[in-house]
This record gives sequence, C-alpha cells and structure tokens, in this order.
Amino acid sequence: MTTTTVRAACPHDCPDTCALLVTVTDGVATEVRGDPDHPTTAGVLCTKVSRYTERTYHKDRLLHPLKRVGKKGEGKFVQISWDEAIATIAGRLGEIAARNPQAILPYSYAGTMGLVQGESMSMRFFNRIGASLLDRTICAAAGGAGYKYTIGARIGTDLEQFQNARLILIWGGNPIASNLHFWMRAQEAKRRGAKLIAIDPYRSLSADKCHQHIALLPGTDSALALGMMHVLIAEDLLDHDYIAQYTLGFEQLKHQVSIWTPEKTAEVCGISAEEVLELARSYGGAALRGEAAAIRVNYGLQRVHGGGMAVRNITCLPALVGAWRHAAGGVQLSSSDSFPKNNHALQRPDFLTKQGLAPRTINMSTIGDDLLRETSPEFGPKIEALIVYNSNPVAVAPESSVVARGFAREDLFTVVLEHFQTDTADYADIVLPATTQLEHVDAHSAYGHLYMLANNAAIAPLGEAKPNTEIFRLLAARMGFDDACFRESDDEIAAQAFDSKNVRAVHFDWDSLKQKGWQKLNVPDAPFASGGFPTPSGKCEFYSAQMRQDGLDPLPTYIAPYESLASNPELARKYPLAMISPPARNFLNSSFVNVKSLRDTEGEPHLDMHPADAGKRALVSGDTVRIYNDRGSFNAKLRVTDKARIGLVVGLSIWWKKMASDGKNANEVTNQRLTDMGRAPTFYDVLVEVEKAPHGDSSAA
Ligand code: SF4
Repeated sequence: MTTTTVRAACPHDCPDTCALLVTVTDGVATEVRGDPDHPTTAGVLCTKVSRYTERTYHKDRLLHPLKRVGKKGEGKFVQISWDEAIATIAGRLGEIAARNPQAILPYSYAGTMGLVQGESMSMRFFNRIGASLLDRTICAAAGGAGYKYTIGARIGTDLEQFQNARLILIWGGNPIASNLHFWMRAQEAKRRGAKLIAIDPYRSLSADKCHQHIALLPGTDSALALGMMHVLIAEDLLDHDYIAQYTLGFEQLKHQVSIWTPEKTAEVCGISAEEVLELARSYGGAALRGEAAAIRVNYGLQRVHGGGMAVRNITCLPALVGAWRHAAGGVQLSSSDSFPKNNHALQRPDFLTKQGLAPRTINMSTIGDDLLRETSPEFGPKIEALIVYNSNPVAVAPESSVVARGFAREDLFTVVLEHFQTDTADYADIVLPATTQLEHVDAHSAYGHLYMLANNAAIAPLGEAKPNTEIFRLLAARMGFDDACFRESDDEIAAQAFDSKNVRAVHFDWDSLKQKGWQKLNVPDAPFASGGFPTPSGKCEFYSAQMRQDGLDPLPTYIAPYESLASNPELARKYPLAMISPPARNFLNSSFVNVKSLRDTEGEPHLDMHPADAGKRALVSGDTVRIYNDRGSFNAKLRVTDKARIGLVVGLSIWWKKMASDGKNANEVTNQRLTDMGRAPTFYDVLVEVEKAPHGDSSAA
C-alpha cells in the first residue's frame, strides 16, 4: 500500500482559497485537509471542502460524454465517444463561425477559480474563433467598480492583520458561511478585546456572534455610510492630516453629506438615529484613540441598484479617520488586484486584434433576455451556440423562468462541461465530463488573502473525464487551429500565470511553487499608510472625475433600490416584503447541493420571516409557503424567526431547482436589472409577497 500527500488548493468561489493536503492511497484520494503550515488556512477547512472526496467520488459524477435524446430540460441522454462529441461540437461551431462567429457565446464563471482550468485555453479558443465576449459580472462587478473609483484597485487590509484590530465592522457578509478564515481572525481579535459590529439586514450566524448587530433595510448601506460620514465630520472625528495629504474632494464631500443627519439616515435605513450616531462614534473614536479600526465589506450589499455606490461610500470611511495608517485598519473588499496575473499570456486576446476583430460583449447577468433576442442591428446576431463551463446559469442566473425559456430554444446548440448533471446540463445538446480539482493541475491567486498557490493533480481523472484545458485543446485541434499555444501543457500554462518580473511575485517560479504549495506576495503590510492610492490623482478620491466622465455622480450619494417604497410605492404596496437569498452555510453558490451529507444538514429550502410579518399573514413555522411577485414564484418551508427583520424575508440559497418539489428556486423572483456601476445583477433588490402554498403543494423539498 502506497500513501502520499499531495499539495493542492481549493478551487471554489470563496475569498479564503485554502491550501489543501490530499492523502492518496494506492491512487485513491482518502482525505482532504487544510494545510496547517499555510498561515491563512491554518489547518482548517469549511465543512463543504472537508467533504471533497465525497464530492469527487460521488455516484452521480459524469464520467463519459453524453448526447441529449429527450426534450431540452428533460435530462435524457445517451453515452457517446469523445471522438463523436468533439467532432459534433467542432462541426457545429465551424458552421456557425463561418456565418458569424459572434453567434457563439462562452458562458463561464467561478466554478473553479483556477487560472488554468478557469480562463486560459478556453479563452484562447474563443478569441481564436472571434466569438462574442462575456461580461463576467454575476458576483462582484458592482462593488469592484465602486472600490476602484475610490481607492484605485482591489487592494486592501491583509487578512493576516485583522486579529490586531480593535474594532471590526463586518459589513454585508456572513463570514462563518463564506469567509471562514477571516472569521477566525475576527474571533482572535475579539478574544484580544476588539469590538465586532455586524451590519446586515439578517441576523446571520456571524451577526449573532458579534457584540452588536445593525439590521438595516436591504439596499440602504450607502445611506448608512453617508450618515456615518455626516457624524464623523459634524463631531470632528477626523484625521485632518491624512485628509489633507492623501485625499481628494473633502470640501465637496463635506457639503454632500451635510443633509445626511442621523435622523434622515435612520429613516432611510429603517434603524434608529442612536444606532447611526453610536456606530460613527465607535468607528471615529477608535481611530482617534490611535486604535486600528477595520472594515470587512463583502459582496452581499452590492447586489442592489446602488450597490457600486454603497461600496464606494463605505470605502471612503477609512481615509476620513486615517484608519489606513495601521496595518490592521482600512478596509478589505478584495485582494485580487494585488496579484500580477498574466492574463495576456493565459487568454491571448491578441488573437482578436491580429484578426481585426472586436466582438460584441454579452452580459452574463442578462443571459435570460439575451438568449431570447433575435438578430438586430443593435444586438447583432442571435445567439446560436452556447458553451457553458464552470457555471450553472439555469440555477444561478436571475429571473430563472426567462433563463430556462432561453435554454429551451430548440435552435440553440448548447454544450455543458460539468462534474454533475446540473439544472443547466439538463438543457445541453452535448454534456462533457470535466475533472475535479483533485484530478488536474492549476495555479491560483486569491481574493481574500495574498498567497499564490499551486494545485497538483492528486489522482488520475475518473472515468473518461478531462480537464477543461484538454477539452478546448481537442476542439482547437479539430477546428484546425495550429497555433503553438493550443499545444501547451497545463504545466506550461501555469508557468505563465503570474508575471515573474513584477516585484510582487517575488521570483515566481512554477516548479518551486508546485513543490512548496504556496508563496506570499511581496506587498507592504499597510498599503496606504502614506497614501499612494492607484487612482488617477494618487489619492483616495472622495471626488472622482472618472465617475463624472462615466456619467455617474462624482461624489458619494444614495441610490434607492429599484424595488422599494421610495422608488416604486405602487409595487411596494402590492409586494411589501424585501427578499434576499444569501448563501446557505453548506452550499457554495449552487455547488455542493447534490452532496447528500451537506444537503441533509441544510434540510430543505426554507424562508425566514419575522413573527410580526408571519402573524399578519396567519402563517406559522412549518407551513409550506409560496413566495411570489410578477416574475414568478417558488415554494419553501417557513421558519418564523426574528433573525429576519420586520419587512424582510430570507431564503438561504442556491438550491438546485430539480431538488425542490416545485422544480424552482429563489431566482424565480429575482430580476435582470443591473446595478448603478459594473453592470452587475441586483439579486437582493426584490420585493415579494408570501402566502400559504395552495393545497396539494404541501412539500417544499
Ligand atoms: S470553500 Fe473557502 S473556506 Fe472552504 S476550503 Fe475552499 S477556500 Fe477554504
């Protein structure tokens, strides 16, 4: 019996990007552990990935190429050979590309965050064809835009510093479920005497364990940040020296926030004026005493109309109080721009320029509507072929009934690369079995810490599964693309993942990274202690000329949700409850829903509702309820709980539709409207009504 330990990295869409140790006995992976020596992983994995072998060896793994024989969505397939699959796909794509390559659309996101199995060979292939480009906006684009307008890049407080903070605002996230290793640092800070304040419409597992929870209305976070700025300025809780040296537009900001009194802020946010005052005083007071005040802002709050502005407003706060002076102060949304990724080498956009092509861009967040569009001068050619990889849009894209209608088009040729027969795979013409993280090589950056990681293949591919790279390599060869980059191995691609000349990469060398598993970037502990923001002015921009140029308000402001009393009173009377659908602890977007032990822990689709709202509707815990608006409806089992504030319902997500008794999930009621900046979806900008499900519809799962 031979047992080895293989160094790997978690591929999932989570800021923590854990370093893994995989135990392999006689070619079989028997255990996946967190690397105890990796400083941010510290030997701890979430429950999801600690069950990774259960997922890898799942009885439902797709192990052979399949061809659809039933109706779209029905899920009836027969096994075919790789040769037939590749020949069929290459034939159809070649035929469509000869007419207009833009009628072909790749659709992918963060099913793997790997730089090799994510967007490398795939993008080379689509750029070589001249296919439509995909705007990958579905998760983080709004917040990223607001952050960048303000401080210039997605750079922030180092995760490894948070335990030294004296005050941490956990704003718009539930780290126990989706940022566990930050939570471990926050808990250490708490043990050392720090105060933790959660700002979240829902009393999540994490909010429940903080010293204070501010349960504002969804979509009003930007107003709360404006109210805080008002108090900080009115009470002179400011770092005047930092403002003078390292910020731009303070006088305009001062004027702009003068109307945001605690009373006005409280009214908009649905909280008390005392909460606004106390929050600002805690934050400004800590900074004034020379204590590190940190903000971990997460993506929940930016899934509304004014989501980009909300992150922008919050990102202004540390510069006002000089919190950036401390390594443990400042704010972190994402660390992803810290990494010198070499996207040019990975994805080869020069294939487009060399051919004189400038394809249109389709926004992945409006895929429902876009699949149903006909050819027109404004839109360009109707989408004729869709290649889906690392994504499950039929479950995760907004306004699901429209998305499903698009995928059901008989004239649409759909290929899905997958591990499992997902809701999306049910609509495919051809399904291709993809390898999991244990079966292939990859290189990783992170968006919550500062380590590059290597993923070594621990086991051989199961069945006939192939890495994404190999699938696109085969397609490229069949379509006659003989450029050298289509013959590169995964190791050769990984060796180009980071720019080795960039100082931050500290002598990036793929072979040594593979051996060591991880390596920290060469970045300063307190990135903006002395300014140096990568904005056009080099300062933290309270006033942004770039925003004005882009048609946006150049100063922090408040943008009400599309679906709210303020924006649409008539709709709010018809559908008086705001709904959010944040991640369930045991799922990661739609990944892991089919892992039985994790699904059993979640139970079935639930809806949390405040007792006052339940009382008004004569609903009790355990009722099967129907959640509905003009876009659609879905069923869930009701939990009456004050974790949901009055006026809010919460459906933890994202369930596979086929695993619910009514074949639906929370995205039936979400919409395809986009955010103020970043062209992102507004999943949490939704009004609904809730009623007892009609008789005969008694089970939610
Ligand atoms: S999902 Fe996140 S916490 Fe879990 S193992 Fe992966 S990176 Fe770590």
